[in-house]
Order: sequence, then C-alpha cells, then structure tokens
Amino acid sequence: MAGILFIISAPSGSGKSTLVSELRKQVGAVDFAISWTTRAPRGSEQNGREYNFTTRETFERMIADGIFLEHAEVFGRLYGTARHSLEDARAAGHDLILDIDVQGAEQVRVKMPEAVSVFVMPPNPRVLRTRLRNRFRAEGMDNEEELYRRLREASKEIEKYREYGYILVNDILDRAVAQLEAIVLAERFYRNGEAIAYRSRRVLEVAAACLQTNSQERLKPVLEAFGIVSASGQQELRFDELSDEDQNEESPGSNEEEPHDD
Ligand code: ADP
Ligand code: 5GP
Repeated sequence: MAGILFIISAPSGSGKSTLVSELRKQVGAVDFAISWTTRAPRGSEQNGREYNFTTRETFERMIADGIFLEHAEVFGRLYGTARHSLEDARAAGHDLILDIDVQGAEQVRVKMPEAVSVFVMPPNPRVLRTRLRNRFRAEGMDNEEELYRRLREASKEIEKYREYGYILVNDILDRAVAQLEAIVLAERFYRNGEAIAYRSRRVLEVAAACLQTNSQERLKPVLEAFGIVSASGQQELRFDELSDEDQNEESPGSNEEEPHDD
C-alpha cells in the first residue's frame, strides 16, 4: 500500500481508543479501519462509526466469502477487519490504523510483515481496573463479571508484548499521545523520506525510545506489577484482591514533556 499499516493492540481499558482518536486530531492522512463485530453496540456507539455491528450468521458468511484480512474471537464475540479498509486507505494515499487484539495482530503480521505494530500497556493493574470500570460506567455497562473477565485476559495479552515493534505505557495521556505521534512521524520519515518539521531530531529520539528493543528498563516495573516477570517466575495476578488506591485516578491530564510536531 502507498501508506503505512499501523497495528495497535492493548488490553481492554488501557486507553487505546483514546490514544488513536487523539493521534488523529494531531496527524493527518491516517485512516482508522472500522472493524466488524458481533457484539452489541454500547453507550453512544453508532453502527458504522465505532464498529460495523452484525450478526454471527452474517459474520460467518463474510469469513467464508474471504471478506476479512483477519478475524478473531475476543471475549466470546467475533471481530474482524475487512480487506477493503486497506484498499480504501491505499486509494486515498493514507496510512491506516488497525485497532485489533493480539490474535488479529499475529494474523496481519504474517500476511503483511512490513506492518508497524504498537502495543499499549496500562501502567499497572489497579489503574487498568479503574479505567475499565470508568469506561464501563460511561457506556452504561455495570457488569463486574465481564470487568474481571477482561482484566484476567489482560495479563495474557501483555505477555505478547515482545511480538510488537513499539511499546507505549499509557500513564500520562499527553505523553503517550506524543509518543504515538512520534512513532507515526518517524516511520513516515524512515519509510517514505517524508520531511518532519523542525523538531525532527527530538521526534526520532522519542520514537526510538519506544522501540520494544529499547524498552526493557521502562517495562520492568509494569511487567512485574502484572506478575509477568518476577524473581520467583510467573504468578497469577488476583485483580479482585487489589486495593482501590488508584480508584480516583484523574481523568486524562495535560503534560507538556514531549513535543508535538504540528
Ligand atoms: P480501550 O480502547 O483501550 O479499551 P479507552 O480508550 O476506552 O480504552 O480508555 C478507557 C478509559 O480510560 C476511558 O475512560 C479513558 O478516558 C481513560 N483513559 C485513557 N487513557 C488515559 C490516561 N492516560 N489517563 C487517565 N485516563 C485515561
Ligand atoms: P471492545 O469490544 O472493547 O471494543 O474491543 C474488544 C477487543 O477487540 C479489543 O482488544 C479490540 O482491540 C479488539 N478488536 C476490535 N476490532 C477488532 C478486529 O477487527 N479484529 C480483532 N482481531 N480484534 C479487534
């Protein structure tokens, strides 16, 4: 494709949708692939805006017809990316972002190894639980069972972080947005020779620091908090036993530490 394919994955509630929508306010010519799903719309979601909502029967027919670039079952529902999303972005000369789970990312990487993949981590399990709970509330979904189901899945998804080229820790929102922006601009620079404005050196440095291969020190406390690496090896994290000390996490805040290349 003319543009670059970006894959972005994260445990549910990490802030992936927020990051993508903020990125698209800052950087032009980035399309978002609207996925198909068999889950029901939540909160203010509209058919054709956040997702294309459909039945399992139709989705299975679409799989048989080869409509999907990738598809996967996530939390008991089917989700998939239609191939035409790539063609549409290509025709417009735009980059494309896929917000897909770790299974879908694996399928796309096999078909399109040139894709740039970004994994978004929450800073720690308590913050993840608070964010997910806030999102559920905002969407009118008061379902603790589903909440804990997603949280248990989070550690398994985070274990896959090594398969991604870049890692973001979404702690301070503005910083994470600036990092995602830097990744997009740096990839455009390296792949397409696209000029980046006067702060280009800083942008390239920010992106390089987010490379998975440069992230071990930064990730250590996050991985440990999720029970993924520890002196005694793997241990299952009990989300329901965590205290509520981060319950009052502030809403996405402002921070000017990182540059915006605008
Ligand atoms: P995802 O798409 O990964 O499931 P969302 O983007 O819906 O997650 O974010 C989940 C919740 O966390 C939302 O209420 C969002 O406003 C909030 N949020 C996202 N990023 C941050 C951040 N860096 N700091 C505080 N709250 C955040
Ligand atoms: P949610 O139901 O909370 O919007 O999304 C649940 C999960 O499904 C998230 O991890 C999201 O990235 C993933 N997802 C959304 N669209 C797709 C898709 O088209 N394909 C795959 N494989 N996963 C998707």
